Amino acid sequence: MAQEKSRRGQTIVITGASSGLGKEVARQLAMDGANLVLAARSTGLIEALACELGPNAIAVTMDVSREADVAWLFEEALTSFGKIDVWINNAGVGVIGPFTSIPLEDLTRMVEVNVKGTVNGSHFALRHFKEIGSGTLINIGSVASDVSFPYFTGYSASKHAVLGFSSALNEEMKLEGYHDIHVCSVLPWATDTPWFEYAGNYSGKVVDMKSMNDPRQAAKVILDLIDEPREVVEVGKRTKTIRLLSRMAPKVREKRSARFVRINLEKLPPKAAHSGILHESTEERENPPGGHRKA
Ligand code: NAP
Repeated sequence: MAQEKSRRGQTIVITGASSGLGKEVARQLAMDGANLVLAARSTGLIEALACELGPNAIAVTMDVSREADVAWLFEEALTSFGKIDVWINNAGVGVIGPFTSIPLEDLTRMVEVNVKGTVNGSHFALRHFKEIGSGTLINIGSVASDVSFPYFTGYSASKHAVLGFSSALNEEMKLEGYHDIHVCSVLPWATDTPWFEYAGNYSGKVVDMKSMNDPRQAAKVILDLIDEPREVVEVGKRTKTIRLLSRMAPKVREKRSARFVRINLEKLPPKAAHSGILHESTEERENPPGGHRKA
């Protein structure tokens, strides 16, 4: 109940709220009484979620890569709730496979969503936070923000960019004396959402991970960050271990990544190449995934 009081009147924008982690975070924040602005391209999915979460939640259809759409999201949030306290740049996509087998248009699109989308959202959020003198910006990176993975080349690059960008922004806020404005990066390990099924896949195989974290773990980290902002937070022991290994024993880490890729390519069933949700929204997909994931 103490938590519930603390978020009443707080307005939180969440991009990528139609699925996975964004949806889980929205559900937990709704229980705490926050005003929620749920953004994604899938109108039907975010409207259904807003309906489920009650009168303090609104749905805004938008594409994070388009500046005009982000401006619209920002205006809708202000019109409905008057101010924004927390902005979570969570929308993110992946594309997996040998680098030269992935069409350039897919790689470019991924960078547009993961990097340009984060830059767009951060620009609107931080201009507002500077005006009101406070606010928390949370950018969702990945374990791949700091560790490189073969066959996740473009994704690793985009998430390295998210971490570098967010850390520089955080320093800039301190340098300018905005001590109540925080920029946080979250680095989840592979998480049990539809992300792997929604990613573009040119590996020729179903891509799956044996050991995934529960999305509720990452959601809890994000909720804790709202209460106690920190510059970088790793989600789960595996992210901590692999980041440490990368620094202390980079060759061992490289061998482990290679083994992971080999196991995936040798043992998993074949899969026809597809571009996932890069160019069409979750609800527009002609062949929706099997839906065996939890979130
Ligand atoms: P997810 O279930 O695939 O959800 C991705 C969300 O992004 C969906 O709501 C999708 O909705 C939205 N989205 C995609 N392109 C968009 C665009 N152009 N504009 C607006 N929204 C867009 O994946 P998730 O696991 O929840 O991922 C959330 C974040 O965590 C991502 O940044 C991801 O890279 C990161 N992450 C995930 C994992 C993992 O293993 N799951 C691990 C590390 C980091 P629409 O299709 O409706 O637009």
